[in-house]
Amino acid sequence: QAKAAGRNTQRFFDPEMQAAASHRSALEADLRRGLQQRELVLHYQPMVDGQGRLQGAEALVRWNHPQRGLMPPAEFTPLAEQTGLILPLGQWVLETACAQLVAWSRSALTRAFSLSVNVSVRQFRQADFVQQLLATLEASGANPERLTIELTESLLLNDVQDIIARMQQLRCHGLGFALDDFGTGYSSLSQLKRLPLDQIKIDRSFVRDLPADAGDGAIVRSILALAQSLGLAVVAEGVETRAQLEFLQHHGCQTFQGYHFGRPMPPEALAHRFQVVPDPLGRPV
Ligand code: C2E
Ligand code: MG
Ligand code: MG
Ligand code: MG
Repeated sequence: QAKAAGRNTQRFFDPEMQAAASHRSALEADLRRGLQQRELVLHYQPMVDGQGRLQGAEALVRWNHPQRGLMPPAEFTPLAEQTGLILPLGQWVLETACAQLVAWSRSALTRAFSLSVNVSVRQFRQADFVQQLLATLEASGANPERLTIELTESLLLNDVQDIIARMQQLRCHGLGFALDDFGTGYSSLSQLKRLPLDQIKIDRSFVRDLPADAGDGAIVRSILALAQSLGLAVVAEGVETRAQLEFLQHHGCQTFQGYHFGRPMPPEALAHRFQVVPDPLGRPV
């Protein structure tokens, strides 16, 4: 006890750690304020097929900070995760994405179009997550069949049975599931087989050095083969060059996301780029 207290005291007076702690609590208060002041925005990154046709988009959160400008999620979502702010933040993301989906559904979207939303594992494990998401969908009028939830492998760390049950409940309503950043996490192949997934997303770190890096090439080929034998669609993340695209296509990948096709952008820019024209009758599809 005394030892622990001593260590804490020492910590308290460590100027570097104290500075870090006060920076964190300032950021936390600021994020709480930013959420209330509606400073968060969603950008959308296209997902396309081999011909560059729009298949979907991923909603990616940014913080439009009055002093610091547009902040990427890496600068505030880890803190949001630790403090629990990820729960109201995540709910805002879902509401905003559903509203956007409804707006786009009144235009000439292709049948295949699906909007992907990142849901943190903490958010997904919240007791009433399923009910809350279904209520959000219903209130917005968004078509659940056009929504894909992206989860990361960290979800497999514990209580997988409960996770599977939640996924199945949502699947009954037509939602889809993608496993994000595939290959970077902890999933064993036997666990992967149990998850009711539609899609896996090959992490950008395996795509970056294609086609030159033979090791990454082998990993990507085996992920594609595995997905095919499990009947899962694959999206390759971080496609920046034609050479990467050609390698991926050659090995059977059919959907691509990356700067080669478009950066994350405001919704109007995505609609403009892909000629999502309003349906004159304004019918949601
Ligand atoms: P992610 O879900 O794997 O999203 C893909 C990230 O890769 C995005 O970074 C995107 O901008 C970036 N990216 C896409 N194509 C390329 C490319 O060709 N080259 C390079 N260098 N990067 C590319 P971003 O927007 O900074 O998001 C980072 C992570 O933050 C996301 O990774 C996701 O895990 C998390 N995140 C973003 N939005 C949300 C959200 O609404 N909720 C939660 N819980 N997490 C989010
Ligand atoms: Mg994602
Ligand atoms: Mg990803
Ligand atoms: Mg990633």
